Order: sequence, then C-alpha cells, then structure tokens
Amino acid sequence: MINNPFIAYPICSLIYISLILIIYFSKERIKTIETKIFILIASTNVIALFTELMCYIGVEAYKINEFVGLIILKSYIIALLLWVMVFNIYNILITHKDHGKSNFDSRKYAKKVGIISAIIFLVLAFTMAIVPLYVFNDGVKKYTYGPGVYVLTVTHIILIIIWMIRFLRNYENIKNKKYIPLIVFTVLLAFVSYLQSTNREMLILTSVETLICMLMFFTIENPDIKLIKELNLAKERAEKANKAKTEFLSNMSHEIRTPLNAIVGFSDALKRENVSEDIKEEVNDIVMASEHLLEIVNSILDISKIEADKLEIIESPYEFKKIVKELESLTRVRIGEKPIDLNVEIDESIPDYLVGDAQRLKQVILNILTNAAKYTVEGKIDFVISSVINNNIIKLIISVEDTGIGIKEEKIEKLFTNFERLGVENEITIEGTGLGLAITKKLLNLMGGNIVVQSKYGKGSKFTIILNQKILNETDVINKKNHEKINTNLYEENLDYNGKRMLLV
Ligand code: ADP
Repeated sequence: MINNPFIAYPICSLIYISLILIIYFSKERIKTIETKIFILIASTNVIALFTELMCYIGVEAYKINEFVGLIILKSYIIALLLWVMVFNIYNILITHKDHGKSNFDSRKYAKKVGIISAIIFLVLAFTMAIVPLYVFNDGVKKYTYGPGVYVLTVTHIILIIIWMIRFLRNYENIKNKKYIPLIVFTVLLAFVSYLQSTNREMLILTSVETLICMLMFFTIENPDIKLIKELNLAKERAEKANKAKTEFLSNMSHEIRTPLNAIVGFSDALKRENVSEDIKEEVNDIVMASEHLLEIVNSILDISKIEADKLEIIESPYEFKKIVKELESLTRVRIGEKPIDLNVEIDESIPDYLVGDAQRLKQVILNILTNAAKYTVEGKIDFVISSVINNNIIKLIISVEDTGIGIKEEKIEKLFTNFERLGVENEITIEGTGLGLAITKKLLNLMGGNIVVQSKYGKGSKFTIILNQKILNETDVINKKNHEKINTNLYEENLDYNGKRMLLV
C-alpha cells in the first residue's frame, strides 16, 4: 500500500509536462538545435517521472524481492542522471562565448558536447548500476542511500560548478533569457538538497526538472516569433532588391531616352532633305523603329516611376471633348489601311471642362484604343463614353469594344501584370512589351479609377474604364475662356516677327 503523500508531486508534474509537450508539438515550429535539445530534455523528464512513480512501488517491492526493488530504484537515479546530462548539453551550448553569433556553428558544437556527455553518462550509469544502493525502511520512513546516490549528487555538484564558471565568464550576456533555466535550476537544487536533508522521503527533483522544462518552453527561441522575424527579413531584402532594380531601370531608361530622341529628331530631319526615294524609305524605317523603341523606354520609365511612388497625378482643368477628338484621330492613324470601322459615341451631357490629369487620362484611353487597333484584323471598334453626374463630380464610363482576336478566359487575370503578353499565336507578329495594361491599371488606381475586361476568345474584347473627374464650375469656365482669349489676342498681336532676329535656346 502506497501511503506516501509526496506521490502527488510526480503525478502533477507528469500532467504539466504532458500538456507542455502537447502544446509544443501541436504548433508549427522550426527546428533549431536548441528546440531539439528541449525535446530531449522534456522527454527524459517524462522518463524520470515514470521511474519516480515506480520508486514508490520499488521501496515496497524491496521488502518482497530485493532484486526487483533495486532495479526499480536504480533506474530512477539513472533517469535523473540522464536528465542532468542532457540539460548539461544545453547549458554548455548557451554559455559558449560565441553563442548567438553568426559565425558560431551551434549544431556542430552541440553534437560534440552531446557525444562527450553521452560517454560520461554511460560510464556513470554503469558505475551506478554496479555500486551498492541501500534502502532505509524503519516502518515509518523509507528512502535510498549509498554509493549509487552519492555518484548522482557529486555529478550534480560538479556540473553546477562547471556551468557557473562558464556563466560567469560570459557575464556580459547575463541578460540573456536563455540563462534563466540554468540559474533557477541551481537555486532550486540547493533548496531541494536542504529539504531532502530534513525529509529524505521527499522525491521532488523530477518536479524541479518539470519546472525547468516549463521555463525553457518560454525561454528558448519562440518558433513563431522567429519565423515571423525571418519572413520580415526576407521581405525587407526582396523589397530592397526590387527597389534597386526599379532605380536601375529608371536611370537606364532616362539615359537611353536622350540619344534616342536625337536619333528620332535627326532621322526626321533627314527625311525632309533632298534625298532619293530609297534613302527616304530607309530613313522612314529608322524613324518608325526608334519611335517604337522610345515608346518601350517611356513605358519602362513610367512603370519604374509608379513602382518607386514617384509618379504624381497633376490635376488641372482640361477640355474633355478635345481629348476625345485627338484620341479618335490617333486611333485612325493606328488602324491605317485595315478594314476596321471606328465608331465614336460621346454622351452630349458631359460638360466641356473637367478637372483631372488630362495627360494621364489620354495615355490610359489611348493604350486600350491602340490595343483594340493592334489586336483586331477586321470588323469594328466601338469607342463609347457615357457618364453619370452627381453634384460637381462626373463618373466617366469609357468603353472600347473590338471584334479582334479576343482573350482566353484563364488568361484574363494575367492581363494587368508587368511584361505579361499572352503569347497567342496570332500576336507574335504584333509589336508590344506587355507593359501597357499594367501601366493603365496602375495609373487608373492612382487616379482613383478602375478598369474591367470582358472578352470572348476569337470574337473580341471590351475594356471599360470607370473614372470620376471633377466638373469645373461656371465662373471658373468663364475665367478660363477669357484667359484663353487674352492669350490668343496677345499671341496674334505679337505674331509679326518679319525681319526680326531670333535666338532659339
Ligand atoms: P502589349 O504591349 O503587348 O500590347 P499590353 O499590356 O497592352 O501589352 O497588353 C497585354 C496583352 O493583353 C497583349 O499582349 C495581348 O495579348 C492582350 N490584349 C490586350 N488588349 C487586347 C485586345 N483588345 N484584344 C486581344 N488581346 C488583347
């Protein structure tokens, strides 16, 4: 019959350590050498707690069968030795002067310490197994004593001295939370030794070990936090690299643009010279190729500016219908000789003057009109603008519908990604960078607008832009018109430069 009230300690400790292990294993974690040692420490504590529970039977069993009783009691002290040797690996590792530094290979070091600790454990465990262990039982008190117990005590004392020396040598790291289990264990061990000297029946060393495991659960690198830190670091690095790429692109495009502008300018001038038709044709090709190259470079510059948050939307009054006219004629040029009808329909209720970034608005609409012209072989393009007015805000609904090659459903979501061309066979011959729609979408986002696509592969596509613009109030319109009139008059009055010299800067 077990009537020792101290049996409550290992039972409670077993419940605690089981809970900790359940929580620990149910979380996603990264495997570091410290977490691996922690698992070992916690598991050896479970073994020690089991053997301790067996001890309460062992002391009783000793009376009936000395050999069986001794095996149980010896396995308990060997389990205690096992725990302290595993804890030793952790303490030696964290008290290394380079621990935590990037050039310190903690895995290799822990392996070395682990091998030495295992050898010491085997030698001591063998010694404890062969040296005598006595059981004191006077009917009231029951406990073990003898050389087996002394080996364990001396090992604890030696290890604590070693840990303390290493700990003090690294006193500058004293704030490191990883030292907490080591310090608490030393203090509690002194306390347990005192308690056991007054009551030798009290087996509470394993409960101290459980407490240390609980502390370690909180002091070893919290895997979740470490994971988040590592992810943040990787994100920061990726953002830096992306920024460097954007800056490089932006600088390069800027540098390329200057000589390219010169090529376009000089070739254009050459066209007007008195040269043969053959040369004119060749120069024409040069102009077309360099204009296309300039378009690409401008797109790259735009995208890098947007990504570097350097592109600003500059709002000012503009004449909406004038822009639509310009867009119409540019699209007609783009359609060229192709058998395509361009139908333009504009809601007459749209006021003459709106406020917004006219240049960027023109750029986004021109991009979808150009695409419609590019990706349509024959049929029609409907360019329709409708609107909804609410106080001084107008919602423009601008749609461009074509009877072109269309876009496969699964490819629609990729449409607004940088450098994404859909690779349809019939577009191989059509020039493009795959940047236009990405820029369109980003510019519209900056202006507070949106773009949606509907398309049927082989039948045609419809791109719809929805964008709010401010309406210029009447007094501002009158002022603007007067201002334009004054400017025109001034211009007309001073236009006669006949016989004058001119300095062109
Ligand atoms: P690109 O310079 O290649 O035209 P965009 O970003 O403007 O680049 O368009 C991306 C891709 O979307 C094009 O390569 C093309 O595959 C597809 N696309 C865009 N507009 C149309 C359209 N109107 N009809 C069919 N496909 C289109």
